[in-house]
Amino acid sequence: MEEIVRELTEAYGPSGAEGRVRKLIAERIAPYVDEQRVDALGNLIALKRASVSPAAGRLMLAAHMDEIGLIVSYIDEKGFLRFHPVGGVFPLTLLGGRVVFENGTLGVIGIEERWREDKIPPLEKLFIDVGATSPADCPVRVGDVAGFHRPFFAQGTRWVGKAMDDRIGCAVLVEFLRQVKESIYDLYVVFTVQEEIGLRGAAVSAYGVEPDVAIAVDITTTGDVPEGEKMAVELGKGVAIKVKDSGMIAHPGLRRHMVQMAERTGIPYQLEVLRRGTTDAYALQVSREGVPAGVLSVPTRYAHTPSEMVDQRDVRAALDLLLRLVAQPIELGN
Ligand SMILES: [Zn+2]
Repeated sequence: MEEIVRELTEAYGPSGAEGRVRKLIAERIAPYVDEQRVDALGNLIALKRASVSPAAGRLMLAAHMDEIGLIVSYIDEKGFLRFHPVGGVFPLTLLGGRVVFENGTLGVIGIEERWREDKIPPLEKLFIDVGATSPADCPVRVGDVAGFHRPFFAQGTRWVGKAMDDRIGCAVLVEFLRQVKESIYDLYVVFTVQEEIGLRGAAVSAYGVEPDVAIAVDITTTGDVPEGEKMAVELGKGVAIKVKDSGMIAHPGLRRHMVQMAERTGIPYQLEVLRRGTTDAYALQVSREGVPAGVLSVPTRYAHTPSEMVDQRDVRAALDLLLRLVAQPIELGN
């Protein structure tokens, strides 16, 4: 699975420019799905039919293809680029970093001189230097979007890369499609667009799929770094089953079912209450008349930085739990 994680995390794909990631995924999953299509917003919707007939219903699984990025808003007379964030980009993560545009142009992030010493600069005090000397010789234009440029590495049980959020979720679903043999549900596996700027892809794809149950696979933060937040999620302790984040409360019956399945099958898990941030499951949950929705999260350190770290064992646990969940009726309780 490491190769697909490398490939996906290194691929270019800020929100609204997910084409390359989509192509990569479409090629990888083609041998394992019955149908796949791309909708008007760019979501990749794959269907793998149930292994029994009739199917117990439609189960939608979602992971987002997009990553955070920087969009060029202005090019000055010397060819320096000013930018706006695409999704949750923080100034501390940027300085001296490298970014890449869709046309392959590389850039370095610099800072206005007087902000250098004393305080955290707002994004407006930073700029991208692509080596241009004027707008005329600048290889990118206003409206072009850059993503972080950073190679993947594996060390011990950890995987580190930019855009683990949420290419690790995409990788789990690709691997899931490759491995799943037994499913009582028609599986709609959706690789969504534009999560980082407001769950757009999940909203429209859920409307189209009209699932009976939905599960998003995304990342969550951890509480296991020095002076970290008191959060009961650690790297290497298993897949995180979401209880709540700042956008949604996971369906309690679905969450309980996931916990019971993990306990019955000995899959390591943790319970997640996330203070800041939400996922596609928020949009899935409020689709049409409402959909029971839950989240399997991969614990991730340094989220929304160019070096997001996950643990292979947690990724494996997420995959194993998904494989188990689709093989039996999902008991939602009441
Ligand atoms: Zn995410």
